[in-house]
This record gives sequence, structure tokens and C-alpha cells, in this order.
Amino acid sequence: MRLRNVPRAREELTASPYVYEDPAAYRGRWQEEFPEKAPLHIEIGTGKGRFIMELAARNPGINYIGIEKYSSVLLRLLEKQQEAQLQNLLLIRGDAEAIETYFAPGEVSRIYLNFSDPWPKDRHARRRLPSREFLARYDHILARDGVIEFKTDQRPLFDFALEALEGSAFRAAAVTFDLHADPVMNEGNIMTEYEERFSAKGNKICKYILTRKEE
Ligand code: SAM
Repeated sequence: MRLRNVPRAREELTASPYVYEDPAAYRGRWQEEFPEKAPLHIEIGTGKGRFIMELAARNPGINYIGIEKYSSVLLRLLEKQQEAQLQNLLLIRGDAEAIETYFAPGEVSRIYLNFSDPWPKDRHARRRLPSREFLARYDHILARDGVIEFKTDQRPLFDFALEALEGSAFRAAAVTFDLHADPVMNEGNIMTEYEERFSAKGNKICKYILTRKEE
């Protein structure tokens, strides 16, 4: 998702105390950037950020970081945060390809991936956020008892994501192919912008929750 290039987006992001454009400089010491020490949960590819805003508002005892590649998109989330001023939410403008340079080993407790870009061409498979290559990156930054949650309405992407678990450090602790019809997994579900749009069209939402394989 790319919005039209909002003029001055970069300048507004740079001026905001909520936005980090040089995240590698904070690797291993993100806790110092929040008023309270707390487990660190991140969302990769926030889009306009409704999900992480609601999540952070509901859970003041967790520290959150939203990561988004495009300035014009992150600006929409920043506008929400400027209004809400949640103390437990910071934002990174950056690319998840470099996530291991942003966070130290074990620094993150939970990763959310919501409606990640499908990259349908085979030659782009490594760019998919739930790919085996990305799982290996998440393995480095996640705590031992860390968790990954992924939602999508793209069934081929979801099947690819399940196949990527083979040979990875993770196993599916829970899976559904119709989240909104699953009372257990849907409990407390926060709809993302894409989720609202595509479930309104009748698309079923797939979701998995990953934990580490037992050794
Ligand atoms: N999560 C939102 C939702 O569910 O409504 C937005 C989904 S949109 C399809 C995917 C978002 O992920 C886009 O805003 C895109 O810019 C961002 N994104 C894709 N690849 C990324 C990457 N490697 N690093 C950071 N953000 C990324």
C-alpha cells in the first residue's frame, strides 16, 4: 500500500518525538525510550495504524513499536498518535529487511504481521514478511518465549506461510482459516483497515499464532 506522496511527510516524521528514522542507533536499548519498562511488542507493516493504536490503548502495560516502510503511510499513523499521545507507542520508519539491525537478540516479545503484501511473483517470495527468510530474522530478535501472529485474507500467502514453518524455529500453536467464525481465536480481535475492507467483501480471514518449536 502506498498513498500519494503527501507533501512534507518526511519533514513531519523527522520533527516528531514519536518517530525513529535511525532505529539501529537504539538497538538493545528501546526500553529507555519509553517511560516504563515493559515487554516489547512490534507490528511490521502498520499501514495507517488503526490496529496498533487500539492495541496500545487497550494494553498500557505493554510497550509497542509500529514499523512502516513508507513515510506517506506512516504519517497517517503519526497523526493518530499525535492526537492520542499514547505513552507506550513509538514508531519506526524503516524496512523490515533490516530488522536485525533495529533490535538486539531477544529484545522483542511479540511480532504482529497484518495483511502483509502478498508479492505474488515467485521471484519475490523472499520479500513476503512470513517467508522462511523473514522467520529466520524474527528468530534472532524474539525472546525465547516469543510469539508471532499473522493475519491475511490471501489464502495462497497463508498456505505459503504455513509451508515456511518447515525447517524454521517456529511451530503453529493455533491456526484458523476463518477467524471471524472462530469464537476462541476471534476473542479480543482488533480489525485492521485491510481486515475491515476485505471481510466486508466476504473474504475469510486466516490467522496463525506461532511459538518456538520445543528443543
Ligand atoms: N497492516 C495494515 C492493515 O492490515 O490494514 C496494512 C496492510 S498493507 C497491505 C501492508 C503494509 O506493510 C504497507 O503499508 C507497506 O508499506 C508495509 N510494508 C510492506 N513491506 C514492508 C517492509 N519490508 N517493512 C516495513 N513495512 C512494510
